[in-house]
Amino acid sequence: MSKPQPRELMVESTQRITPNMQRVVLTGESLADFPADSKSGYVKLQFAADGAPLTLATQEEGVKPTMRSYTVREIDVAARKLTLDMMLHGHSESAGAANSGPAGQWAEVAKAGDRILVGGPGPTKLIPQPADYYLLVGDMTALPAIAGNLELLPADAKGVAIIEVVSADDVQTIDCPEGVHIEWVIADDLAPAADHQARADASLLVQTALNVAWPAGKVAVWAACEFHKMRALRRYFRNEKGLSGDEMYISSYWMLDRTDEQHKQSKKTDAEA
Ligand SMILES: Cc1cc2nc3c(=O)[nH]c(=O)nc-3n(C[C@H](O)[C@H](O)[C@H](O)COP(=O)(O)OP(=O)(O)OC[C@H]3O[C@@H](n4cnc5c(N)ncnc54)[C@H](O)[C@@H]3O)c2cc1C
Repeated sequence: MSKPQPRELMVESTQRITPNMQRVVLTGESLADFPADSKSGYVKLQFAADGAPLTLATQEEGVKPTMRSYTVREIDVAARKLTLDMMLHGHSESAGAANSGPAGQWAEVAKAGDRILVGGPGPTKLIPQPADYYLLVGDMTALPAIAGNLELLPADAKGVAIIEVVSADDVQTIDCPEGVHIEWVIADDLAPAADHQARADASLLVQTALNVAWPAGKVAVWAACEFHKMRALRRYFRNEKGLSGDEMYISSYWMLDRTDEQHKQSKKTDAEA
């Protein structure tokens, strides 16, 4: 089966929703057949080797584009609007984050009328249901997916979502069931460190998740964040709490000091280990 062609979409608007998060609303007639139930799924933004956003006119036959994954925060097929929330990690005002790649750079400068190729969507990333207690953990790259998940939980759901943000001003208002508490933690590990894994193990995000009083009944877990923090969380949920694959979704969404290409390679090695 041939791969579906990416859609060329146009930026309709951008908005700095918090200091380190840029909302980009994309539009285009080709969204007419975009799956309406793809909230929490992801698309792949496509860039040229020099970091410029690709379009139908600039894509080159036989040349693999640079691709970056972003969660479908909202999709309104009737209005032909796809909303992405892109973390800014490397812009001048962001605390600690030293560098950025093509996607982070594009998020900063994209403006209405700009065009970009968008692949996907890939499968939705939903917390396993039903469960007696829902535990969601993630950083700002996972915030769009956690927000989508919280909006899709049953109204009587109980649980907690632990979300790490760069600064207190990055806290957002999210619709969620009354029985689900959102605990915001401010990233405490932005400065360089020699041992990434040790720092991740000790991070506030990981420690807050490990300190959740384990409830009785069936617990479902959803976690996505930086690679080393993902490993710390996976070790705990899998080895200490005995959760299996159908009780949790856990993924690393990026990796400290590595481009996404290098991150994918580390993920592969990690999965094989
Ligand atoms: C399924 C999936 C869904 C995702 N959804 C979202 C989303 O909705 N919103 C979102 O913002 N991100 C999301 N991400 C994460 C995003 O794809 C990565 O952050 C990506 O690496 C950014 O690409 P880049 O071109 O900016 O940087 P890259 O070229 O990949 O990396 C360049 C440098 O930036 C660093 N870097 C990358 N990401 C971050 C970060 N978040 N903080 C600090 N430094 C970073 C790298 O370590 C590297 O040093 C998702 C990832 C996956 C796998």
